[in-house]
Amino acid sequence: MKRVYNFSAGPAVLPEEVLKEAADEMLDYKGSGMSVMEMSHRSKVYDNIIKEAEADLRELMNIPDNYKVLFLQGGASQFFAEVPMNMMKNKKAGYILTGQWAKKAFQEAKIYGEAVELASSADKTFSYIPDCSDLPITDDMDYVYICENNTIYGTKFHELPDTKGKDLVADVSSCFLSEPVDVSKYAVIYGGVQKNVGPAGCVIAIIREDLITDDVLPGTPTMLKWKTQADADSLYNTPPCYTIYICGKVFKWLKKMGGLEAMKALNEKKAKILYDYLDESKLFKGTVEKSSRSLMNVPFVTGNEELDAKFVKEAKEAGFENLKGHRTVGGMRASIYNAMPIEGVEALVKFMKEFESKNHQA
Ligand SMILES: *Cc1c(COP(=O)(O)O)cnc(C)c1O
Repeated sequence: MKRVYNFSAGPAVLPEEVLKEAADEMLDYKGSGMSVMEMSHRSKVYDNIIKEAEADLRELMNIPDNYKVLFLQGGASQFFAEVPMNMMKNKKAGYILTGQWAKKAFQEAKIYGEAVELASSADKTFSYIPDCSDLPITDDMDYVYICENNTIYGTKFHELPDTKGKDLVADVSSCFLSEPVDVSKYAVIYGGVQKNVGPAGCVIAIIREDLITDDVLPGTPTMLKWKTQADADSLYNTPPCYTIYICGKVFKWLKKMGGLEAMKALNEKKAKILYDYLDESKLFKGTVEKSSRSLMNVPFVTGNEELDAKFVKEAKEAGFENLKGHRTVGGMRASIYNAMPIEGVEALVKFMKEFESKNHQA
């Protein structure tokens, strides 16, 4: 068996330890005589799995008691609609456009009410986070929406926007659990788990309790009403059982690694190795303004499309997978999530240096 260094943006690398544990438990989960895949979500055994996952997540993120944790299906993309359905009392909200996922959420909100563009970095291909210190937020807005880490463009809000007292909603899909967050600064934090937490199939949403009500937009499906899910502790219908089980294992792995402070330090160390090289390289360069750089997704280019393609091909042959940039932006992107070992980043930079010495004419 040979494992590659997988730089995929998502679904993405998972801790090897977690995969091995899951393999060990595949046929017989803790003496139950069955796999978690085969188990009733109403069983006592499964109830322990989901409750423990929630408790570990609460501990890791230090989630205040007045926030609910929901495990949902539909991906982050379905949540784009759930936000306006559950929060647009005045049918008006502000969106900060920092990339494709923010734009998609913005477009979706327009189906339900007035979505206002508060700021955008579209003028420079979303290569920076706009100044959000004095946004044109009006009193009648129900919330302010951000995509906190922009998976495709490799930018991250290092400071939250001044929402002028309005509720902040954040899509954290690609930076979930990568560093500590102050949950109380948000009304809603949510993300698809397939980037930095677990396998595809689940969205985790952390929602302030007062936002979970029957007062939703007319026509909101039962399943998409947060109250339905909250009242049933995410077991209104069959949840993505196996995905939640793996997420639970990842939470335990993160606790063992020292929690989110330790992950932040490690992620900073990993990202620095790559960014430092990009800053000194004569061949490769990062595409993002330094002050907006993501710790998780690192896009870079050579400036020559043919050379980019050659790099991606040769990297793959050398065991570095999924380095091709998003189909809409080209170039390369290395996603270096929690589970990417530091050795993977070091090996990648070593490979890039060799490629540079062979391909760069000074
Ligand atoms: C991948 C991604 C999405 C879309 O997730 P799905 O679960 O596929 O709908 C949304 N937002 C961000 C920031 C992402 O990285």
